[in-house]
Amino acid sequence: MADFMTLPNAPSFALSRATIPAICLPDANGFAAREGLVSTDIVVTDGKIGAILPAGTAPTALPAADMRDGMVWPSFTDMHTHIDKGHIWERRRNPDGTFMGALENVMADRQANWSAEDVAARMEFSLKSAYAHGTGLLRTHIDSLPPQHDISFEVFSDMRARWAGRVELQAVALFAIDMIFEPFFDDLIALLKRHNGLVGGVTQMLPDLDARLDRLFQAAGDNGLDIDLHVDETEDREVLTLSRIAEAKLRNGYEGSVTVGHCCSLARQDEETAKRTIDLVAEAGLSVVSLPMCNMYLQDRHQGRTPRWRGVTLFKELAAAGVKTAVASDNTRDPFYAYGDLDPVEVIREAVRILQLDHPLDDTARIVTRTPAEILGRGERGMIAAGGPADLVLFSARRWSEFLSRPQADRIVMRNGMGIDRSLPDYRELDPLMDK
Ligand SMILES: [Zn+2]
Repeated sequence: MADFMTLPNAPSFALSRATIPAICLPDANGFAAREGLVSTDIVVTDGKIGAILPAGTAPTALPAADMRDGMVWPSFTDMHTHIDKGHIWERRRNPDGTFMGALENVMADRQANWSAEDVAARMEFSLKSAYAHGTGLLRTHIDSLPPQHDISFEVFSDMRARWAGRVELQAVALFAIDMIFEPFFDDLIALLKRHNGLVGGVTQMLPDLDARLDRLFQAAGDNGLDIDLHVDETEDREVLTLSRIAEAKLRNGYEGSVTVGHCCSLARQDEETAKRTIDLVAEAGLSVVSLPMCNMYLQDRHQGRTPRWRGVTLFKELAAAGVKTAVASDNTRDPFYAYGDLDPVEVIREAVRILQLDHPLDDTARIVTRTPAEILGRGERGMIAAGGPADLVLFSARRWSEFLSRPQADRIVMRNGMGIDRSLPDYRELDPLMDK
């Protein structure tokens, strides 16, 4: 699809009449916001943001591209993905669409197919898509059961170096915490230090869960590693490791960053338990990422029965308690989620519908920009600020209803002040990997 406008070919120019989500400006004072959106002229100079001025006040001597009130966002942050397992759907499906089916089929595919070449080719495909859609910062979890951890982290480190300047990458080692007292865990910590990764894991309701969490927090603390866990991805209300994680962080005096993903079963608790848990999460300073598309797909799925709940965590209540909250892609075209393209516009559009984040929408842009960038320790990436790189996503859509009603396929992705080639990779590139 053709872009909706042409950018000036000049080192210095203005994007005039640009509508920016106020939440993505370091200082929105002096701009009148409507639905959280402000009208500006953005001056771009030598690939950087020169100034953000009230609409109609950019120097007239500058070449200008008239946005005609179209939105301009900072590049996106996709803070929870699985680019090591993405795009295996055509060779390893999930015949019943359930969580157990996903686990089993990913394991079988990993054991049969995940060579360095295979992982690298699929990661590359994912990053091409993410970049074309406008993502500038992406965190992925990496399946880290031996011997896969060695294979995948080597590939990831190469990928991170190759994609530097286009998509900044972070990686989390995903493993089951029932292995945490085994020598493997020491090996994994050493690997994460080598590759500058994060400790992850899936928490389970084990009898000695607290001891296992203590081990996790101590090892992370001793080695200066941040933590990002998969938590309570179930409708089973008997499962609630979230409060135990918050307690473990406080008990161990751990000072790094802790992110918890999913937290589905929080929404299945009685009001009192939910409130107590949320207060604890806020006190411990955990950040929560919701994965609405994947949750809607996997949760409450039973053969021949229509789902009765949406599968998502208590996003609004957590945010109201002061917890940093964001949304992200999660899986793409693998047994955990059959669809997806690492497009944060799709993620926010679906999040608004599934989590009812509208009416008002004023601050909603933060959930794929400012807040996830802050959680990942790269807050400036989620903002449009004078002096920062002109890494922007330009839309024809002017207001929320226009933005959320179409896929925004004609958007322009600008990096360092220049429009990039937005062509998406052709699925046919993956065909040689699927014939296994
Ligand atoms: Zn995940």
